[in-house]
Parts: sequence; structure tokens; C-alpha cells
Amino acid sequence: MENRIERARYWQSIPLWRNVSEQQWNNWGWQVKNTLSTVEQLQQVIHLTASEKEGLLGTRTAFRTGLSPYWAAQMDPDNPDCPIRLQAIPRASELWKSPTDMRDPLGEEHDTVVPGLVHRYPDRVLLLVNNMCSMYCRYCTRKRTTSEQNTSLSTSEFDAVFAYLRSHPKVRDVLISGGDPFLMSDSKIAYLLRSLREIPSIEVIRFGSRLPVVLPQRITPELVDILKAFHPLWVNTHFNHPKELTAESRAACARLVDAGIPLGNQSVLLRRVNSSVRTLKHLFQQLVAARIRPYYLYQCDLVEGASDFRTPVAKGIQIMEELRGHTSGYAVPTYVIDAPGGGGKVPVAPQYLLSSNENEVVVRNYEWDTFRYQEPSERDCACPYESVFFEDAPEKRESFLRTHLTVVDSPAAAID
Ligand code: SF4
Repeated sequence: MENRIERARYWQSIPLWRNVSEQQWNNWGWQVKNTLSTVEQLQQVIHLTASEKEGLLGTRTAFRTGLSPYWAAQMDPDNPDCPIRLQAIPRASELWKSPTDMRDPLGEEHDTVVPGLVHRYPDRVLLLVNNMCSMYCRYCTRKRTTSEQNTSLSTSEFDAVFAYLRSHPKVRDVLISGGDPFLMSDSKIAYLLRSLREIPSIEVIRFGSRLPVVLPQRITPELVDILKAFHPLWVNTHFNHPKELTAESRAACARLVDAGIPLGNQSVLLRRVNSSVRTLKHLFQQLVAARIRPYYLYQCDLVEGASDFRTPVAKGIQIMEELRGHTSGYAVPTYVIDAPGGGGKVPVAPQYLLSSNENEVVVRNYEWDTFRYQEPSERDCACPYESVFFEDAPEKRESFLRTHLTVVDSPAAAID
């Protein structure tokens, strides 16, 4: 198939957008306004299969469909196995619910402390600011919210969030997600960041957004200027396949990185989309080349209607086996299962430690050669300077200083 996206104004080869100017196409507001969601709209862009038509009609009330024109234009119009198409267009298999499927697979509702705020871990929180996305991933973990009518946190709900954070100073890290938080207006994002920065205990702010991938036009110089005014600030995005690394998405990511924003990537392991070493290795290497650090590779959650996307865990382990050692460590993410019901992320990895006793451990490398590593005789691993550095035990600090001064004043006496 001709790669239509490598041509300038590639969208104009699709009759629906023949008269769309470059200015319109690169305007994220235009992209949002022209979201595609119906059979009638989508069949002007791709040749829908019977299964896709059935999926589109059957999921109308369960989980909405929506693609920006940009994202729709990346799909292969003739091949239903296109990885972008598989993620975006529902198929008949989505109508089937497995008995193990869950409405809220990560148990986020249980840990919601005020509307929009999930507090599970001691030092960090998840802030869900809206339920809108620019593309509705068919395996979305938050279908329970993203399938509802558009909603965003109101000013009074934001106030409740800020009050909670002020009264819980152990929270030092806020992950802002949704939906997609970058669908908020620039002024709302600036207001949110300003308010969070007024809380002294908040050290790190992170965004989770798929817009650098599915709506790169949103990463405007104006948005980047707002974000970089509130460092330290991190962004995690969500590339699943190397086909998604277009010129536009690379440029959007470069704008963020050039502003000093560390960019990470969270992929989901999806059957038939990216469930192969060749595809994922290429994706992770290309991400590193684009200065995006592959952070997590998620096992697909037990979310309603997504069973067709799930791979056996053994497949994920096999992929990790063929990445570690075979490419740079920067290009190897941590493979995790987000424990069903809210147990948090559990890393799953091939076994490299073959045996251990108190004298040695036996390990194997990526080529299955085995090595013996001798254990040291000294076992006390306490760090004596730690309490001084953290000033958390003044009496220990004084005692440490007394000993230290003795050594300086009278080395011989200290040796005795
Ligand atoms: S972008 Fe994220 S929140 Fe939105 S549909 Fe995809 S997975 Fe769900």
C-alpha cells in the first residue's frame, strides 16, 4: 500500500478532507471539532469490514468511538490488521464480555478520596481531571469513566482536591491524568499547575497524556511555555507501535523535551497489535532515538470487552527475554501486571538468578551462559552517615560527630 502519510498534505488525498488547508489540519481545535465516530464518517476514510461495522454499531451505548482526523488518516484504509486501526475501531469481539472482565480493573473507585483524586500510595496521588480523549483506545482501563458523557472537574471539585493535598503533606508527587488532561484549555492547565505549586509539599508534577501520539497538534509552543514554567514536571505518553511515530508526533515530543520536560512512554502489550519482539524492539529503539524513555510495558488489564487484546503473560516474559541484553538498557521498559482489584504494579521478568547460598549466587546472562558471583564476608550494610545526612536522629548525629572529632584530634587514641 502506498504510504500516504509521507506525502505533504497527505490528508487531501482522502476525499473527506480534500479542501482542508494546512492551517486547519494543524489546528488542534479544528481536529477536535471534526472528530470521527460513526460508520458513515469512518467509511469515508477506510474500508470498514463487517466485524468493524458490527463493533461500531454494537458499542454505541457501551464505549464511545472517536478519532481525530489526524489519527484516522494514519490508518491503513485497506488492511483491518493495521495496528492503529485495531486500537481505534471496535470489532465484533468487543461485544463479548469474559466472566473475568471487570468494570474497574484497578480498583480506583475504592481509593478515590475526593472526586477525581485517587490516593493509594503514601507519597503520590492520581488526579483524574476529565473523561475526554482524542481517541478512545478499545482496551482502555478507564472505560467506566471515558464511556460517560463529557465531564471535567469543576472549580469547587478542584478546590476540594487542593484542600485534601494541603492536609496530606506526605503526598509529594501528583500524576495528572483523565481522560486526557491536555484536552483542557491552556488557561485551565495553567490554573491547575499554579494551584499545585502553591502547595509546598508537592515536589513533582507528572502528566499522563496520549495527545503527543494521537493529536500532536495539541502540543503547541504556548502549551509548552506553560508547562515549562512549573518544573519539575514530567510527561508520560503512550506509543504502542512504531507506525505511530510519525513526523508530527516526533516533532510534538521534541517540543516537550527541548523545554526540559523528561518524556517517558507507557506501552500496553496488545495481541496482534504489538505482541512481537521485532515490533516492540523497533518501537523502543525508535523512542530512545526520539529522546523518549520506554518506562513501562503493561500487561493488558482485565477490562470489559478487551479480552481479544490480551496475550498470555508468557508472551510478555518471552519478549522481555529477547530485549534485555539484546539492545541498550534504555530501550528496555519494566514489564508489569497492574494487579487486578488495586494491588498496584507488579514487575514480571525472566529469571536470571538461578541459585543462591550464603557464599555465592549463580546467575545467567541473555545468552544463557552461567556465572558465579562470590558473596562478601561482611554482611552489615547499614550506612553510618545516613542519619547525619537526613538529620533524623540528632543523638546519633552527635555521637557520629564525637567519634569523628576523636579521630581528627587523636588518631592514635581512636585506633586504640
Ligand atoms: S487515551 Fe488513555 S484514557 Fe483515553 S481512551 Fe486511551 S487509554 Fe483510555
